[in-house]
Amino acid sequence: MSFWPGVTSLADFERNAKYGTDVLDKARGTNSCIGGFMEVCEAEDIELVPILNASGGATATVADEVYDHYVPRMVEGFKEIKNDLDGILLALHGAMATESRTDPETDAVRDIREAVGYEMPIRVTLDLHGNKDEALIKEATGVFGYHSSPHVDQANTGVRAAKCMIKTLRGEVKPIVALRKPGVVVPSVFSATTVSPAKDLIDRLKEWETKDGVIDVTVLFGFAWSDVHNLGMSLIAVTDGDQALAERIAKDLSDLAWMKRDDLTGREKAALYGVQNGVSEAIRKARDSAKPIVILDHADRSNDTTFMLRELLRQGAQNVAVPLIYDPDAAVKCVDAGKGATVRLDVGASTGWRDGGKLTVEGEVLWSGEAKYTGTGPMSINREVNLGPAGIIQVDGVWLQVVSRQTSLIDDDPMKQFGYNPYGFDIIVSKSKTHFRAVYEELGEEILIIDAPGQCPADLSHFEYKHVPDGVYPVSRKQ
Ligand SMILES: [Zn+2]
Repeated sequence: MSFWPGVTSLADFERNAKYGTDVLDKARGTNSCIGGFMEVCEAEDIELVPILNASGGATATVADEVYDHYVPRMVEGFKEIKNDLDGILLALHGAMATESRTDPETDAVRDIREAVGYEMPIRVTLDLHGNKDEALIKEATGVFGYHSSPHVDQANTGVRAAKCMIKTLRGEVKPIVALRKPGVVVPSVFSATTVSPAKDLIDRLKEWETKDGVIDVTVLFGFAWSDVHNLGMSLIAVTDGDQALAERIAKDLSDLAWMKRDDLTGREKAALYGVQNGVSEAIRKARDSAKPIVILDHADRSNDTTFMLRELLRQGAQNVAVPLIYDPDAAVKCVDAGKGATVRLDVGASTGWRDGGKLTVEGEVLWSGEAKYTGTGPMSINREVNLGPAGIIQVDGVWLQVVSRQTSLIDDDPMKQFGYNPYGFDIIVSKSKTHFRAVYEELGEEILIIDAPGQCPADLSHFEYKHVPDGVYPVSRKQ
């Protein structure tokens, strides 16, 4: 169960849900697993029968009605075409928990499995932040996770799964899966695969993938802020009929993760910046840097905590961009006031939980309207991005963008699409965990990670885990 208060409702999922052929129409050419399935299957002239696609973000525990709405529809969909079906490709996330199910995605695969029988190949793709255990590989005969965080390889993950499916159906391979859990829980900020320690695991994974008989290898870093029995990392190997090899790979990666557990959980890192010293350091560094300094406010998953904005204003920071603050009321006020008007807004802090409280700001509206565009960043390429009513206001030295959808800064579209050059800012604040790196490692002069309070801090000792078994580092009461 997520530590986040409240529930994610069916309406939250339905907002962007797609059914039938719409699933394929919207996914074509995008960086998504379904986009990847399509790329492979359409090139091979294989018919895809889409059923549905829905997601609800990474915040509160999901309502049971969400499972009850979608999973029976999927099961029925597969049942209807069972006799013409050669195999099933499922694009799942892997860290969902509902009110009464700690691993609803494995439950869904089991329900589908029961409907289609144990002969049917089922290939599952997962986000790199999935919490999974052996129960999944009893049902799924192939599991493929992203290799990258930033998740720039979602389509490629779909490609890997679909290619394996086709080879299986042609009798060229017989996939065997092994999974190991080292008992390590990784705060997402340490799952960036472009830097050590996460990069070391991915490097080892890639070494294994070059060996004979290996079809695919996955490192799942897990999602830390959830109190579930299968919390934490999972190492997965898919080989061509060689169980011993699959076990050996999963164990090797699991041992490596355990060895690096202090780095992966932030225990051995130099302390991350606090809010006050992080902001003053950013201001100091920005004075003589050619490119913007990027502040990573990684603990804010609601994209509306106010700790950072408050401190930037208090210290008089200049030429700062704070994009994508979630506040539908403030956004509508900007739209009503119009460009050039001066507005006074109470912004942010919608969750009432570890969010810093509302902050009153005043400034001139630089832009306002419906924020809709087609994504151009490596993760959002060709996707319809709809931020709803939005406004940009100048609050002292801060360029502040308020929007009506909860999303974090993963590319430079939130500036570029509104006519602002991201390189023109001295400081840019991102509340992404790792995804922003795909653009900002290059765009920024330096990334300062600030561990503000927020809902998803690096220090997991703020949370009381009750469903996690003994020996899971560093969260179990019994180590
Ligand atoms: Zn992820």
